[in-house]
Amino acid sequence: MARIETKDLLNLSGKTAIVTGGGVGIGYGIAIRLAQAGANVVIAERSDAGASAAKELASRGLKVVYIKTDVSKEAEVKNMVDQTVKLYGAVDILVNNAGLYPTIPVMSMSLADFDEVLNVNLKGAFLCTKYVSEKMMARKQGGKIINITSIDALHPSSVGLAHYDASKHGLWGFTKNVALELAPHRIWVNAIAPGGISTPGTQKLQQSMPMPENVDVGKMLEQFLGKIPMRRMGDPDDIGKVALFLASDMSSYMTGSQIVVDGGVLLS
Ligand code: NAP
Repeated sequence: MARIETKDLLNLSGKTAIVTGGGVGIGYGIAIRLAQAGANVVIAERSDAGASAAKELASRGLKVVYIKTDVSKEAEVKNMVDQTVKLYGAVDILVNNAGLYPTIPVMSMSLADFDEVLNVNLKGAFLCTKYVSEKMMARKQGGKIINITSIDALHPSSVGLAHYDASKHGLWGFTKNVALELAPHRIWVNAIAPGGISTPGTQKLQQSMPMPENVDVGKMLEQFLGKIPMRRMGDPDDIGKVALFLASDMSSYMTGSQIVVDGGVLLS
């Protein structure tokens, strides 16, 4: 095996990466790191946040474009992958990041609530993996797939996330099985399991949580942080850096693994 110089290990020049839900939060943190490493990055996102993010990153000289995509819709995913190949000739890296985590107790959950979360978090990752892997296999140059699961793929973090936990346990199982199937094609499939990361999604979750009048929110946050050995919430860049590791040759002997990035919270 050719030995790559240390200074070149994180160089993704000439590679093309798709980051789903890359307009804000963790996806944005990943898109920046991959683009700074030299990759052409496609932000595949359903909302206009993707367009503003791509515009902002391109204005900083990074090669980032936006392709409007709802990952739960097969025709949109297929079109996004085709457009990416038309633009850049290939896809080398796929990050399945788009995800939803609305809190609803199972007893109040409708079938539509359950389906919505599974459709994005699990079916979306399946569709992107299928259409991207097809291109990777035809090109015979291998590739990297990174699935953003959650510590909830290993251990529930709170009541009201049964549909979410089902989707994330499912995504972890999907990661391992697909890693096995795609290994002969040199497509390496791994997962990152984040703990609590400050993003627009977690802010929305905190604001929408019903809070009894006598609850001191500051104290509650203190208690929450007290459970994290590192005593801070994660930043999207904490995940971006691990995604860069998995997307690059730094992780040359890894497939079917899940890296927990949680400030130690699973220890508590
Ligand atoms: P976020 O702030 O809500 O951002 C997610 C992005 O994905 C949003 O821009 C969202 O767009 C987009 N998206 C949602 N559904 C989509 C779809 N069907 N097609 C394309 N894009 C879609 O979320 P985040 O906190 O960064 O989380 C990102 C991923 O990390 C998720 O898979 C989440 O489960 C996982 N995660 C997060 C944490 C955490 O603490 N933040 C912890 C563990 C795992 P809209 O605004 O239109 O919905």
